[in-house]
Amino acid sequence: MAEPPAPARTVIENCAVATVDATGTEHASGHVVVSGHLIESVGPGPAPAHLAGVTRRVDATGHLATPGLVNTHHHFYQWLTRGLARDSNLFDWLVALYPTWARIDEAMVYAAARGSLAMMVRGGVTTAMDHHYVFPRGAGDLLGAEIRAAREIGVRFSPTRGSMDRGESAGGLPPDFAVETTEAALLATEEAIDTHHDPSFASMLRIGVAPCSPFSVSTELLRESAALARRKGVRLHTHGSETVEEENFCKELFGMGPTDYFESTGWLGDDVWMAHCVHMSDADIDAFARTGTGVAHCPSSNARLGAGTARVPALLSAGVPVGLGVDGTASNESGELHTELRNALLVHRLAGGPGALDVRQALRLGTYGGAQVLGRAAETGSLEAGKLADLVLWKLDGLGHSTIADPVAALVLGAPAPVTLSLVGGRPVVENGRLVTADEDAIAREARAEARRLARIAADAG
Ligand SMILES: [Zn+2]
Repeated sequence: MAEPPAPARTVIENCAVATVDATGTEHASGHVVVSGHLIESVGPGPAPAHLAGVTRRVDATGHLATPGLVNTHHHFYQWLTRGLARDSNLFDWLVALYPTWARIDEAMVYAAARGSLAMMVRGGVTTAMDHHYVFPRGAGDLLGAEIRAAREIGVRFSPTRGSMDRGESAGGLPPDFAVETTEAALLATEEAIDTHHDPSFASMLRIGVAPCSPFSVSTELLRESAALARRKGVRLHTHGSETVEEENFCKELFGMGPTDYFESTGWLGDDVWMAHCVHMSDADIDAFARTGTGVAHCPSSNARLGAGTARVPALLSAGVPVGLGVDGTASNESGELHTELRNALLVHRLAGGPGALDVRQALRLGTYGGAQVLGRAAETGSLEAGKLADLVLWKLDGLGHSTIADPVAALVLGAPAPVTLSLVGGRPVVENGRLVTADEDAIAREARAEARRLARIAADAG
């Protein structure tokens, strides 16, 4: 039998390399060789000579190569409702927006997903996630719409099937018309896993189970969701400890704080990650560390809603896996993840002084830390031979960065760096700052049309 042909190789040379491996290996001038969908080698100096099958050679002088960024929390549909309830806290903001969100349909979610994904991918995201929990009756296949959008743009994707079943009449925050029944939510979640989940090493799509929050979900749905996820071998995600109001809600309704409540419903574990975790006691942090529960830290969203500052330095010291999240763009209108590296560093230094977080910790949060909380640290999140070729070349020799000698400091502290090349599984998704898999202008136009249609329908209904 003939040998199968060697996969195409891409050679990237003459750039600084921050591998974000376990010991933080960096090269002032190094190389990365990509073979097919995998990283073949990473090291100092030029790539090995006489490699066969090289189809592309990139002289990356003036650039920094890092792992692709991993987003760990988002709500794509909110792309259509940015800039509203601008001065509200979480609960008032939610109550203002639920009636509009309850009018979304498949075409809207598709356009919103394309906008959300394009914005992130253009800024160096190679693994995206989404937490979709609004499913109006008769709205079409909303999860399918965002999966289609991610496939077209070519990003690795961890969408979660969210849910809400605790409406106002059951003591919850969302209006009754915005929630599903417990049974319907569980059935649809199981169906989403069976239809879409791919557990393979190079998977482009992993489904998670994600009831929305303690104040919008019944105890039964939390318990049954955890059981379902474990039966199917998929991960669990929700919002936790985001605001003081949520903490008070849990104490009043359940007689305990959010972390204890989650633990009582089977919701702490190394297969769980939670968004925000702002209001955490020492005992809460210990519980996360003891169980391996991960955190999606969303500094801009927390600041936009005035929710507070998560205790990220304490979480990291305790050994809790922490990644970064954009969160929905109704509470973080920028929709970018690469700017969250800088925002995280600044927020924690304001709260904890100059030693609270350094530039390399910030880069780790946005890459390896994210891969850890999504359960994909063996596959992506660092530049190491044998891992998936998810990587970004940041241009650091231009006006915004050329006088900052340390490339990681330039990336984190400087202006948002242009992306010269971004690869997902070895496949280019960004070249010279532009998406190559979709038309950004068309996405912007279509998203605006769908945002206006949603606003019109909501106004007519209201
Ligand atoms: Zn969120």
